[in-house]
Amino acid sequence: MGFALLDEKDARKAIILLEKEYQDAKYYLSFKTPIDLLAAAILSAQTRDEVVNSSTPALFDKYRTAKDYSEAKESELIGYINGISFAANKAKNIIKAFRIIEDKYGGKVPRSMEALVELPGIGRKTANTILINAYGIVEGIPVDTWVIKLSGRIGLSKSSAPEEIERDLMRIVEKKDWKRIAYVFKAHGRRICQSKVPLCSRCRLSGLCPKNGVKKSA
Ligand code: SF4
Repeated sequence: MGFALLDEKDARKAIILLEKEYQDAKYYLSFKTPIDLLAAAILSAQTRDEVVNSSTPALFDKYRTAKDYSEAKESELIGYINGISFAANKAKNIIKAFRIIEDKYGGKVPRSMEALVELPGIGRKTANTILINAYGIVEGIPVDTWVIKLSGRIGLSKSSAPEEIERDLMRIVEKKDWKRIAYVFKAHGRRICQSKVPLCSRCRLSGLCPKNGVKKSA
């Protein structure tokens, strides 16, 4: 299916409508500290938030500092996350990431995009998420699977490459809203613009959206 793009005025209108509709949208992973958040963010790749949130209380209780994780035995760490997909690989990445944090950053989760994306298991989306939610630093927009899907459907970006979608959205979305727009999209995707059968007749964007009436995942 091809992409139909909204013009800039309608794209901004669509964002404003979504922002108004989902004022309750918020970040979905539970955490108390930047250390918790980094571990949860690595665990969340290709895994539902509810699954991550159900495993992390015991994990966070056991491992509290970068040193704790850096010295963890892989098999023991896996025991805390074995309900999560790719647990072995994620355990490896968590231990490696915290070893780097311990050695290079004095045990503190770094506060820059450049440093975060160097860590195993952390890409630009996750780095944006950590900067925003742990430190209130807004450098960009986290582009997750819902942002990719809905940006195409609604006609906000014709790309499927996360970094290009991020650039397109950064032109349309006001900077003050960058920190929550991904959660707004996710709420809209879960409640209305569902993957298989979007509920277009109940959608606030039905007068604008080029995919109004779409029947299948697109
Ligand atoms: S009109 Fe339909 S396809 Fe477009 S955003 Fe709304 S629910 Fe999704």
